[in-house]
Amino acid sequence: MKYYSLNHQSPDVSFREATIQGQAPDGGLYFPQSIPVYNEKWWTEVKLKSKAEIAFDLMSPYIGDVMESQTLHRICEETVDFEMPLVRINNNIFSLELFHGPTLAFKDVGARFMSRCLGYFATNNTRGVTVLVATSGDTGGAVASGFLDVPGVEVIILYPSGRVSEVQELQLTTHGKNIIALEVSGSFDDCQRLVKAAFADAEIREHFFLTSANSINVARWLPQQLYYIYAWQQWLNDEPPVISVPSGNFGNIAAGLLAYKSGLPVRQFIAACNSNDVFTEYLKSAIYQSKETVATMSNAMDVGDPSNFVRVLRLLDDYKGVKEMVCSESVSDSDTKSTIAEVYRKYKYLLDPHGAVAFKALENYLMLHPGMSGIVLETAHPVKFAPAVEPVIGEKIEMPAKLLTLFENKKWKTKMAPDYAVFKDYLLSR
Ligand SMILES: *Cc1c(COP(=O)(O)O)cnc(C)c1O
Repeated sequence: MKYYSLNHQSPDVSFREATIQGQAPDGGLYFPQSIPVYNEKWWTEVKLKSKAEIAFDLMSPYIGDVMESQTLHRICEETVDFEMPLVRINNNIFSLELFHGPTLAFKDVGARFMSRCLGYFATNNTRGVTVLVATSGDTGGAVASGFLDVPGVEVIILYPSGRVSEVQELQLTTHGKNIIALEVSGSFDDCQRLVKAAFADAEIREHFFLTSANSINVARWLPQQLYYIYAWQQWLNDEPPVISVPSGNFGNIAAGLLAYKSGLPVRQFIAACNSNDVFTEYLKSAIYQSKETVATMSNAMDVGDPSNFVRVLRLLDDYKGVKEMVCSESVSDSDTKSTIAEVYRKYKYLLDPHGAVAFKALENYLMLHPGMSGIVLETAHPVKFAPAVEPVIGEKIEMPAKLLTLFENKKWKTKMAPDYAVFKDYLLSR
C-alpha cells in the first residue's frame, strides 16, 4: 500500500515512510491510495474471529510488504490484549468501553500500534529514533505506556506544569527507562512551540532521528477502525447501529468512516462535540471555519481546528457526502453534567465527560428517529476526570487497582523553562 499527501505536493510513500515521517513534507496528512472493501460474508464471519485475528486481517493490506507477517501478528496481539466490551445502558443505547487499556483511555490502541511499528522500523536504523511529543494530558500517557521498553526508541514528553491532573502526571513520569518527562513551567502551547522549534532546527535534526507521536500519524490513525469492528462483533440487533463518537481532532470518527467504506454496516455517524463546534457549524453552513479553542470539562476534545477534518472530507467526497452520513451536535458543559447525573441515577451507569457528550447527542438523535438504536464510544474511564465527575454525582469514584499502584511509584521528571535555547541545550547535552 502506498500513501499520498492530501496536499498533493509530496511523493507517495510506503507505510514505513509514512509512519516515520508522521506528516508529509508538504504539510499534508497521509492517506491510503486504496481502501479494501469486504463483502457481506466477510462481515458475518468476522463475528467469530478473535480480536487479534481481526486486527491482523484488517491491518495487513495497509501495512503491505514493509513488515513480515509474523511481526505484524505479534504487534496486533500486543495492541489489543485488553477487553473492549459493549455494555447495555438502556433499551436502545449501548456503551463501547474503550478505557480498559493501560492508561484508561482509547488512545492506547493507536499509541501501542504505532510505538511497536516505529520500534520495528527503528531496528533497521543505526541511530535509533527520538520521539518528541507535547501533551495536554491524555496523549502523553498513552504514548509513554506504548513506547516503554521499545528498543531503539527514546521518548521525550513535554507537559505543562500544574495543568495536567495528578493521575495524568503519574502516567507520564513514573516509567523512567526510555521515557523522559519534562515539566515545562508554561502552557500546553509553550510545550508545543518548543517541540515545533526542535523539529525545524537543522542542528537538532543532525544529532537526532526525530519523529512525532502525533495523532495524525497513519500508524496511530488506522488501527482505530478496529473499535468499530469490535462493536459490530458484539452487536446483536438486526438493524445497523447509529454510532456516536466524542470528537476533538476527528481521528477516531475518521477511522470509523474508513471501516464504513470497507463495508461495515452503520446506520449513521454522530460527531458529538463539546462547545468547540467547528464541525457542527460546518454541517449547518457548508463553510469550514476554524476557531479559538474553548476550555471545557471534556478537555481531550478541546480542538478548534480538527486536523482529521480533511480525511473525513476525503472519505465522503464532499459536503453532500459528509452531510448524508454524519450529523453533529454541540453539547454544553451544563448539559454534559446533567447527562452524567441523569444516566447515573436512572441506569446506574457512570459516564466520563467525553462519553456523556456522545450519549447526549445520541439520545437526542434517537428521540427524533424512533425504532433505531445506537452505540456511544466511551473513550475514557470516569476516574480520570474524578474532580469534574464526583461533584456531579455526589459520590467518590472507586480507583481501579491499576491506578492505585501508580501512586506508589517515584516520579522521574526534569523541570524546564519555556525557552527554546534552554531546551536545545538540554537536548544537545544528552
Ligand atoms: C483524544 C480523545 C477524544 C477525541 O478523539 P479524536 O480522535 O481527537 O476526535 C475523545 N475522548 C478522549 C477521552 C480522548 O482522549
